[in-house]
Amino acid sequence: MTRKIKIDDDLYIGADEFIVIAGPCAVESQDQMDLIGREFHKLGVKIIRGGAFKPRTNPQSFQGLGFEGLRILKALKDAYGFKIVSEILDPRDVEEAYDYIDIYQIGSRNMQNYSLLREVGRQDKPVLLKRGMNATYDEWLNASDYISIEGNNNIILCERGIRTFNDYTRNTLNLMSVPIMKSKTDYPIIADPSHGTGRRDLILPASKAALAIGADGLIIEVHPEPEKALSDGNQSLNIDEFKGLLKEINGLKSEK
Ligand code: PEP
Ligand code: MN
Repeated sequence: MTRKIKIDDDLYIGADEFIVIAGPCAVESQDQMDLIGREFHKLGVKIIRGGAFKPRTNPQSFQGLGFEGLRILKALKDAYGFKIVSEILDPRDVEEAYDYIDIYQIGSRNMQNYSLLREVGRQDKPVLLKRGMNATYDEWLNASDYISIEGNNNIILCERGIRTFNDYTRNTLNLMSVPIMKSKTDYPIIADPSHGTGRRDLILPASKAALAIGADGLIIEVHPEPEKALSDGNQSLNIDEFKGLLKEINGLKSEK
């Protein structure tokens, strides 16, 4: 039995509903997020993603808006009732971020940042634990133990792809981790087809596969103008493409 992670009174990850989390890689501006908020509200999206602290490979790249980004997300949450997931990079920011977000995201690069894991483990909000890009299943499980040992069992795993010799995709989305991690833990697991493939054209097929294999949901990057995105535009859907994906996924869900 999958553990149901409570996000809100009537919203769980790991229950019957296949949850689609979406939003831009990075929060870039108030205007960008206002547009997303309006559109996602119409589409019935319940959980929005948006990076405020960005773990960029190159220190010259856009690093995110920091707490200003979290304030923009919070305004959206207050206006529409969305739940917010956002990545925290530094253990010193965990407490201050508490009031802005509903789910702490631990990114791939920080899956083995043990002081960060312990710090979110001391909070009473759910944690989205992404798989390290080089992590084995046991290393990923150990990372989840660093969170739970501090008292927080509200963990959602996220398969976001691993590094392999495959060079046609940014990472190799290893969907086999869904049944494997389900056999090892009772945590729900969602898939990230954006980082898992790095390619907009592969997001839909990867999403269908994640649903078919028994994932509890998806986290997808969506940007109003992906070609202008400050990060990860190549793996972001525009709003119309996202609408199309939701339609297909909802159709498949009703067939199940
Ligand atoms: C992200 O979600 O934008 C991100 C940086 O993901 P990952 O940690 O999986 O690379
Ligand atoms: Mn991204």
